[in-house]
Amino acid sequence: MLRQYELVERVKSYDPDADEAMLNRAYVFSMKAHGTQKRASGDPYYSHPIEVAGILTDLHLDDETIVTAILHDTIEDTVATPEEIEKRFGPSVARLVDGVTKLSRIEAQSESQRAAENLRKFLLAMSGDIRVLLVKLADRLHNMRTLHFIQKPEKRRRIARETMDIYAPLAERIGMYEFMTEMQSLAFRELEPDAFESISKRLEQLHKGDGDLIERIARGLKAHLEANGIEAEVQGREKHPYSIWKKMAERHVSFEQLSDVMAFRAVVDSVDECYRTLGLIHQRWPMVPGRFKDFISTPKRNGYSSLHTTVIHDEQMRIEIQIRTREMHVQAEHGLAAHWSYKEGKKTAARTQHPWISDLIEILEHAGSAEELLEHTRMAMYTDRIFAFTPKGELIQLPKGATPVDFAYAVHTDLGDQTVGAKINGRVMPLRTPLDNGDQVEILVSKAQHPQPAWLSFVVTGKARAKIRRFVKSKEREETVALGRKIFDEIVQRLPNALGWEAMAEALRRLHLPDDDSLMEAIALKRIDDVKVMEALIPGSTGVEGVKPPPQRRAISIKGLTPGVAFHLATCCHPIPGDRIVGLRREGEGIEVHTIGCEQLADGVDADWVDLAWGNETDGGTARLCIVIKNEPGSLAVIAGVMGQNGANIVSMDQTGRDGSFHTFNLDIEVHDVQHLMRILAALRASDVVSTAERI
Ligand code: MN
Repeated sequence: MLRQYELVERVKSYDPDADEAMLNRAYVFSMKAHGTQKRASGDPYYSHPIEVAGILTDLHLDDETIVTAILHDTIEDTVATPEEIEKRFGPSVARLVDGVTKLSRIEAQSESQRAAENLRKFLLAMSGDIRVLLVKLADRLHNMRTLHFIQKPEKRRRIARETMDIYAPLAERIGMYEFMTEMQSLAFRELEPDAFESISKRLEQLHKGDGDLIERIARGLKAHLEANGIEAEVQGREKHPYSIWKKMAERHVSFEQLSDVMAFRAVVDSVDECYRTLGLIHQRWPMVPGRFKDFISTPKRNGYSSLHTTVIHDEQMRIEIQIRTREMHVQAEHGLAAHWSYKEGKKTAARTQHPWISDLIEILEHAGSAEELLEHTRMAMYTDRIFAFTPKGELIQLPKGATPVDFAYAVHTDLGDQTVGAKINGRVMPLRTPLDNGDQVEILVSKAQHPQPAWLSFVVTGKARAKIRRFVKSKEREETVALGRKIFDEIVQRLPNALGWEAMAEALRRLHLPDDDSLMEAIALKRIDDVKVMEALIPGSTGVEGVKPPPQRRAISIKGLTPGVAFHLATCCHPIPGDRIVGLRREGEGIEVHTIGCEQLADGVDADWVDLAWGNETDGGTARLCIVIKNEPGSLAVIAGVMGQNGANIVSMDQTGRDGSFHTFNLDIEVHDVQHLMRILAALRASDVVSTAERI
């Protein structure tokens, strides 16, 4: 364990202005607070926060971060209070410690609504200060280094799995590859002990005989560059068992077929030299097609930049080479932490917000519920990025699987809202097409367009999803209110007297509703029945004579038909009473009734067109719906339940699409009329399992 003076000296070595007294106070405070607590290793507990602080001094982090690391477990595990921390170490450290404590608490919880709520708070707290995350990652790294001391195998596995699933990707997100690699290696050893063992053994065998092979190749590379005037630092290493195992799994190849198990790195002075180095290497050794990547011209989202290539070094052996400048190298090892380090004793902390963090903040502002948030965060954490270009050559970074709609929303909200189509590399393509790296995307827009509910089944970015959902929600409410108003007008017709001009305000007061729209919505969604509305408008009205009975339904009737002429309702557009309709009469075939919007009418130019309208009350028809529902047990039962409660009969049901966690169905249902249909749509949309419901 680092001694007090050693820790202070380390910080002073890269930051002579560091607050020495605060560091000393923190060391003593933590030691006293943790007292006689012990780690699983048998070491005194306080050795853990000190080691965590030590890890962070390697990244040259500022004194506040180091103090936070020393204090990071005091709130959760000792009697120390946030007030005490603030009094002794100031508001800035107190805020950081609070952030780390909150994240530790989330760790202890399951993925429930509450955890997501906490995650939201934590991310907000952290958004201004990435140092909280740095301390948490160092904490996890030290816990992984000491994992083998934990007795229970299940507990070791749980911690290792969590590290693999959450912390290593987080480290990668912010570009801390050193942390990521060590976490993965330690977790892999715990999770796949057999694979780890066998890969390690084979690596050993591979080198039997040629001992310093890596050394020799590195020397050869360096000499080749030197002969051509480039002074490079060349390091070589064997790939980690985990990255070898991952490659074997991803490419379905065996260890023997995996020819590149060695990786080399050339660090040079300038970007210009990077490209010259690449040229020299490709001239000397043939490159492996498809493996060259230029992260200098298009850096990764976490800021990583380098050139990557794989060459055939000699028969049967491929080697991977990374080429970068010294600055890129520091950034690559330490990622975002590099922005917090000190250079020549001067504070150069770049507090610029990381793009990944600002994405989250935007989602936080738009996400409706904590679960929705968690869904977005996971996406933001786990999906890889692709790069696409605007027609002007602007680079847009998106998660893998992103579509032109995601692209449009990433460029600008208005562009997303008005999207009607997209050209990918000059060709018009469907909006659900996943984009590839390097695609040039031109979004076709129309001022009359609105976000479409169907887009929800394929967009992948949190931003697009949140914007579309918000629009769909407001549109659904508009429709629901309009439906409620129609039913309300009918209800008013049935009242014995005309309404006084105060009646509406009185009724809202009696029903405890804030405004007209809320009443209309409640009526449409059947949260309130007709009698209650009538009583609220005119108390006593339903008990007196003169209340008109609800309308009776009669057999289907269509005005405009010559009596006795055979007709049938077209199966392409399924007209139902309330729709505007037209008839097509063909010789010897009777009359086919279509909605006036039906596309099949274009084929009817040779037929006689008959102007038709529905009779007053009718027997209904069949309507076709497209619904997108969550893929979870019981979803279909819920749909069937909604139909039953609303007196609708399902005639047929076809699954038309399936997209991860959503299923799309076409449903034919029997309804009385348009209002009945709208009630059913409203009820479907109100259900938890339904993502969208539309008539088609
Ligand atoms: Mn800890």
